[in-house]
Amino acid sequence: MTGSVAYLDHNASAPVKPAVRAAVAAALELCGNPSSVHRHGRLARRTLQRARAQVAALVGAKPEQVVFTSGATEANHLALLGVGCRRRIVSAIEHDSVQSVDPQAVQVPVDADGLIDLGALDVMLARDEGRAVVSVMLANNETGVIQPVAEAARIAHRHDALLHCDAAQAPGRIALDMASLGADLLTLSAHKIGGPQGVGALVLGPAVEVAALQRGGGQELGRRAGTENLPGIAGFGVAAELAPEDLASPVAARRDELERRAKQALPTVAVFGDAAPRLGNTSCLAMPGVGAETQVIALDLAGVAISAGAACSSGKVKTSRVLLAMGVDPALAACAVRVSLGPATEAWEIERFLAAWLALSGRTAGEQPTRVRAQ
Ligand code: PMP
Repeated sequence: MTGSVAYLDHNASAPVKPAVRAAVAAALELCGNPSSVHRHGRLARRTLQRARAQVAALVGAKPEQVVFTSGATEANHLALLGVGCRRRIVSAIEHDSVQSVDPQAVQVPVDADGLIDLGALDVMLARDEGRAVVSVMLANNETGVIQPVAEAARIAHRHDALLHCDAAQAPGRIALDMASLGADLLTLSAHKIGGPQGVGALVLGPAVEVAALQRGGGQELGRRAGTENLPGIAGFGVAAELAPEDLASPVAARRDELERRAKQALPTVAVFGDAAPRLGNTSCLAMPGVGAETQVIALDLAGVAISAGAACSSGKVKTSRVLLAMGVDPALAACAVRVSLGPATEAWEIERFLAAWLALSGRTAGEQPTRVRAQ
């Protein structure tokens, strides 16, 4: 429940959808272990299989390609550590859960628009240093910039490397198909798409295998041991099934309106990544001279939830590594916040954001009242 707060932090976690809540509650009623042979086990297994098929369908894969995990963080680790390549090449703007897997990983730079440098990737892969796994995210969680994953995959494959794609922010925001992306491994997270927190998946390409990081009972075809989080997985399945419906929402028009009016009211406002293809729900923007933390706290007091760059862990606000990689001046990057809308975000939420945010610079959204009502 987001109540009367303008909740504009969907990239951190999206509100759970009602049908998801119902699926979680129904799964909680099942007492069986999906690995048990008896009737209760079979019922639990059926729920697990349905969810596996729903998640597979979201990305055009087969159910047996889906490995359920505790979230995108674990899926990223399983991909990069389990695939058997000691050489890892990751883009400079990957989420911390990719960046921190291997401190020795080679970094692919990005340009000022936040797009990875494919030429640099090609050069790195041409070095004869053994088989590599390359990690390129589909959409950046801070800027929303959509990466040329299919091209990166073609380059990787030309050098006999594997391509892992962290697609945690993509479902329901852009169409998603694993084969068209050319990804050998694909990461998903339920709580970015209206599912529960603490559940995700690594989807394996048809010819790809991973060695389990945690061993035990042999669940998930031996790829990830431990009794499955059935309620979470059931909710994830429903969220995955519903995600494509969100593609038709008017979220991009709302985000564009927000940016247009912010820039109009305050010409010094900087928007990052807007020259590149972007998710329609995400805006990363800076108000020069006002620290990100100050903005987040002031907006919270005004009933608006946003975050400062990446909301990596509670209360921690640090200058965005993503913006620095794009060559943004550190002083400006320190004033950047992320506003991320959802498919059901309403006009009043944008109004409240603009009023509270622009007030920080001594101006108000009320300076443009006619435009506000006309759009
Ligand atoms: N990758 C990306 C791109 C993300 O945005 C996030 C969540 N911020 C994660 C990975 C981590 O996801 P989870 O919380 O499911 O571990």
